[in-house]
Amino acid sequence: MEWIRIYEGKAKILFETGERGSVVQRFKNDATAFNALKKGSIPNKGAINCQLSSHLFQFLESNGIRTHFLERISPIDMKIRQLRMVGLEVVVRNRVAGSLVKRLGMEEGTPLAQPILEWYYKRDDLGDPLVNRDHIRILRLAEDAVLAQIGQMAKRANDLLVPYFAERGILLVDMKFEFGTDETGSLFLGDEISGDTCRFWDATTHDKMDKDRFRQDLGKIEENYLALFRRVTRHEPEI
Ligand code: UDP
Repeated sequence: MEWIRIYEGKAKILFETGERGSVVQRFKNDATAFNALKKGSIPNKGAINCQLSSHLFQFLESNGIRTHFLERISPIDMKIRQLRMVGLEVVVRNRVAGSLVKRLGMEEGTPLAQPILEWYYKRDDLGDPLVNRDHIRILRLAEDAVLAQIGQMAKRANDLLVPYFAERGILLVDMKFEFGTDETGSLFLGDEISGDTCRFWDATTHDKMDKDRFRQDLGKIEENYLALFRRVTRHEPEI
């Protein structure tokens, strides 16, 4: 059966394949920043992010975190569980960076005594605003129990990923997760885990190895995505 495109976002496309319960997410080379005000393309980003995400989803699954990952079926295509997505972006932070520099007036790179969890309402037209539990309740984005479970899963994923990256000479500064439920109501980690959605710094030099290179015009973007991939997976991507 021919694949039917059911959704196209800034960095990924979703296809229905005719198989019940699963869809395919395709990773694009397109890059956007600042609520899509800045647009560009990073060579081989789709393949690198698809394969890095696959690797990290499998790592998390093997440590008891349920993810939407089912199988990688091409360099840029991943078969995933079809989920009903919760309309929130969940950010976990280990060091100050990005919007937190401005919000709290703290210096970039300052280590946080404990991870910070933040919720953002996924609404491009509003610029994905920061929201609290009361906002989430009023907007009916998630039941309290589901929200608590999301918070626990996000923190647990961070606790697993921080040492995993540290062993590979990488500081996991912050990350964004998205979650969804299947038809039985079970919660899964969805979306992607890559240099587009996390901040990764070289542990020694603090050089940036993620989308901040694109956001801040730092150059050597593809080289850094590739170097990150090699360090984390210890092999070459299929391009
Ligand atoms: N992030 C993301 N998508 C967004 C906003 C943020 O993946 O729409 C990620 C971002 O890459 C970083 C983390 O979430 O790893 C925290 O982002 P922050 O709030 O600092 O916002 P930014 O400075 O990226 O706009």
